[in-house]
Amino acid sequence: MDLELVTIGTELLLGFTVDTNGAEIGRALAAAGIRVVRRTSVGDDGATVAAAVREALARTGAVLCTGGLGPTRDDVTKRSVAGLFGRALRFDDAIWAELEARFARLGRRPAAANRCQAEVPEGAVVLPNRWGTAPGIWLEGAPGLAILLPGVPREMRGLLEHEVLPRLAGRGDPSAAIRSRQLRTTGIAESSLAERVAGAEEALAPLTLAYLPGVEGVDLRLTAWRLPAEEAERRLAEGIAWLRARAARHAYAEGDQDLAAVLLGRLRAQGWTLGVAESCTGGMLGARITGVAGSSDVFMGGTIAYANRVKEAALGVPAETLASHGAVSEPVARAMAEGARARHGVDCALAITGIAGPGGGTAEKPVGTIWLAAATPQGTSAERIAVPGDRDEIRRRGAQAALYLLWRELDG
Ligand code: AMP
Ligand code: MG
Repeated sequence: MDLELVTIGTELLLGFTVDTNGAEIGRALAAAGIRVVRRTSVGDDGATVAAAVREALARTGAVLCTGGLGPTRDDVTKRSVAGLFGRALRFDDAIWAELEARFARLGRRPAAANRCQAEVPEGAVVLPNRWGTAPGIWLEGAPGLAILLPGVPREMRGLLEHEVLPRLAGRGDPSAAIRSRQLRTTGIAESSLAERVAGAEEALAPLTLAYLPGVEGVDLRLTAWRLPAEEAERRLAEGIAWLRARAARHAYAEGDQDLAAVLLGRLRAQGWTLGVAESCTGGMLGARITGVAGSSDVFMGGTIAYANRVKEAALGVPAETLASHGAVSEPVARAMAEGARARHGVDCALAITGIAGPGGGTAEKPVGTIWLAAATPQGTSAERIAVPGDRDEIRRRGAQAALYLLWRELDG
């Protein structure tokens, strides 16, 4: 089955919002064996939306739209598409009752403007939206199939998974399904990783391998194109194992799992708690860790010690160490980690001190120089890294490298 995508919203054209819906839907449909053959973005204008949907239906007979289902005047999708199908909009009491109940739970009442969200093109199937106020619409008729989903990514995602994919399931071609698995690596440059996994393309064919470098590391994605489901899964599992063996200690997870989550899991298994002492990252490391749901049983807290005065007073870093080695140095990183470990009463502590730039670099310690330390019951280890990028990137790379340092320590 072929399908076209129309993402609706002037903000998409202006570049204020990135079309993540298009990307997510593309991935999900490819996995279901449905080919997205074209993707169009249009602004919030009734005639333009109608033209885009009409043209898409003329080409493929099936179109999935996101956006423009809200209660405001710029939300024109439903009316435009109903017009194409020659259907009137009728008010749906059940949707309105559901909407009133939803508002009541928040101690509010819907506004008059919300009434249009309870309007449905005649003969359409309503796709209930448990994640927001605008239900999805499934409309089939002479022009073809039109599926309308809200633009809010969380709502779109919920409806796609629970309402749309199950309904499309029978129409996809299972032999056309595209399946992927991803191995996450860190602490190694893309080119070095490529050397380690040299020959992968031949060894793992017909799977294809993609390198996806990012600030947190390089993800390796294996894709099976149009293979029978069982063969695809078997080859992907073997392929991931092949890559894992070669990426060795650089491979920390599969899928989209965060290194912070992996590290927390390891600490939890050990029964150890964690604290942090951050200088140049100013709390980023703590934010990464607390971004993982359920981190509170392992992560106790930390200190943002930006000024030397705070490194001394809050972490007990000796003034003479700071004076003789400078704040970005191995002895200071070690003292910060050990200070955090003692003062926060935790089993393990991570410390980061570095030069995030754009100013402050020297020949000896250029911008991007970071010292990391990990203090554990087995001792303290430290590492100097030199990372590229702008201020934000350097800090994010520093946080990732700190997590990686402790993860390796725990791994033995
Ligand atoms: P709407 O359903 O048009 O009212 O969209 C609500 C919000 O969802 C917009 O303000 C955007 O922030 C977001 N949004 C809409 N379309 C997309 C899209 N294609 N990708 C990502 N976010 C979107
Ligand atoms: Mg909109």
